[in-house]
Amino acid sequence: MRFRGIPLWGWAAAAALYFGVAAAAVELAWDRSIDALAELGSHRLDLYAASLRSELGRYETMPLIVARQESVRALLSDVPDPPPGLLQTVNDYLDAVNREAASVAVDVIDLHGSVIAASNWNRPDSFVGTNVSYRPYFQDALSHGSGRFFGIGTNTGMPGLYFASAVREGGVAIGATAVKVSVDALESAWRTPGEAAMVIDGNGVIVISTVPAWKFMAVRPIAPEQQSQIQASRQYAGRSVELLPYRRLSDWGTSAWFARFPDWVHPGRERRYLAMSRAAPQAGDSIMVLLDVAGARHQQQIALAFVTGAFLIAGLYGLYAIQRRRAIAEKLKGQDALRSANERLEVTVARRTAALREANERMQQEIVERTRAEQLLRDSQQEVVHAGKLAVLGQMAAGLTHELNQPLVAIKTLCDNARTFFERNQPAPAIGNLERISRLVDSMAVLTAELKTFARKPDFERVAVSLGEAVTHAVLIYEARIRDEHVQLDVRIPAGTTICAEPSQLQQVIVNLLGNALDAVAEQEKRIIAIEARAPDPHGRVLFTVADSGAGIAPEVLAHLFEPFVTTKPRGHGLGLGLAISSRLVNGFGARISAVNPPEGGAQFSIEFAAAAPQGEANE
Ligand code: ADP
Repeated sequence: MRFRGIPLWGWAAAAALYFGVAAAAVELAWDRSIDALAELGSHRLDLYAASLRSELGRYETMPLIVARQESVRALLSDVPDPPPGLLQTVNDYLDAVNREAASVAVDVIDLHGSVIAASNWNRPDSFVGTNVSYRPYFQDALSHGSGRFFGIGTNTGMPGLYFASAVREGGVAIGATAVKVSVDALESAWRTPGEAAMVIDGNGVIVISTVPAWKFMAVRPIAPEQQSQIQASRQYAGRSVELLPYRRLSDWGTSAWFARFPDWVHPGRERRYLAMSRAAPQAGDSIMVLLDVAGARHQQQIALAFVTGAFLIAGLYGLYAIQRRRAIAEKLKGQDALRSANERLEVTVARRTAALREANERMQQEIVERTRAEQLLRDSQQEVVHAGKLAVLGQMAAGLTHELNQPLVAIKTLCDNARTFFERNQPAPAIGNLERISRLVDSMAVLTAELKTFARKPDFERVAVSLGEAVTHAVLIYEARIRDEHVQLDVRIPAGTTICAEPSQLQQVIVNLLGNALDAVAEQEKRIIAIEARAPDPHGRVLFTVADSGAGIAPEVLAHLFEPFVTTKPRGHGLGLGLAISSRLVNGFGARISAVNPPEGGAQFSIEFAAAAPQGEANE
């Protein structure tokens, strides 16, 4: 089981570590804060002890000084009847001393414990006439020479510190002097927020306290006999001394302990304090300070927050590092996959390229073989055609013999006749015979020439030829016949039309077609021959047509028109070679010849030539 890429035991370990460190940090913070607090408490105790000592020291000798005063001694010696004015003198003296020392009151007490003179003699709360014999400070002064006591004034109800001293005359006590000092100044000087300071007297009763409510409360239970003694001395002005409700908890070192005291800031609640106490300058008394541990708790919270924050930052950084490591691993994996895909692709491409190269080589080889085969075929075709032509010539030998024999017989007869005419001295008919002989020889020459052409291997040399010029030459050959036979010849060749052909062979083809057309229209009433060419089509081909108004091509001939020795003409007029030769020549130009009987009548021969650049351009 994993969460965010970390196994559960990892989370558990991190949590355990966190709790461990947090607990240690909190404890450490607590220890250090409480140590610091204890040190502060110790300083406070030093300070309070010193201030208490100085305060006590200030007033401790004051009753003795007053006791040595002559007038005081005189007053006590003359009790109960002092000389007139002496009481007033003593009262005035006490008042002056009291004001000088900033004490609460200064009294002179007779041996019976009655206050006979006082600094506040003239005020309603005057001590004069009050009996203080029950007060321990008076008793101590008479028996030990001096006395000291924390108590509440029975007249004033104000708490204070009493110092007393015996007044002696000839080594015998004749009375006492007492000084009452307020501890308000100490209390207000010691008051510090979050702290309480108090002085506890020998009875275990708080006599000086920065918490007013705790004053004259006991910090430990008071035994019944002690209680009755307190009542007797009216030390606390007859108040019942209550126990301060607090619980001592654990100790902290040797000089401090934790305790739950009533919260003086929020009455009704309890609060934990670090308590420390020390013996006061006077035996039996002690000073105690209470220090609020809220600061230590705050330090604990800070430590916990710090540890939590540090863990959070470390955790976040750890998660980030893990995510980053994973992202890098993914990226590397992706790169690996890409690299292997690339390698696979390269291998495939190399394999395909090799296959293509192989196929290409095979194709090249095939092309070479095909070219060779084609060449072989073409050669053998030509050979076959040539051989075929020779064979045909052989077959034709009988026919040719006949063809040639007829004119030869005719020539012989005409020669014989011509000689006879010459012997009879008749030159005119003789010359007529000679002319006929000449024509016969011409026709024989034509026949042999055609045979020669047919037997000759085709010549493939092609150049740009002007179609118009080739037609003009052909027309020139038949000029006389066209004129004599009243044939209407329409030639429409766009100027500058050039096609790709061999010039003399082209001429021969046109002569053949024109000759056939003339033969076809010879017996017709309407003798029209149209020779036309169309401007090159988008593929650069030029359509050339020779149409006539003859009877059209005989149906039995149409399918074999371009085969040799196909003719409908009477013996001596055609060999059936003209179109066969023309077709071969046209094929040699890279063109194609065809024939149709158009619906309007007559025959139409068409040749689709490959166009060449106009002659002018071709010659450049
Ligand atoms: P020949 O002219 O010697 O017969 P050709 O090969 O030139 O040989 O013509 C073969 C045959 O085609 C002709 O005999 C004729 O029947 C037919 N032919 C050729 N041209 C035309 C034409 N313009 N009109 C009708 N028939 C034609």
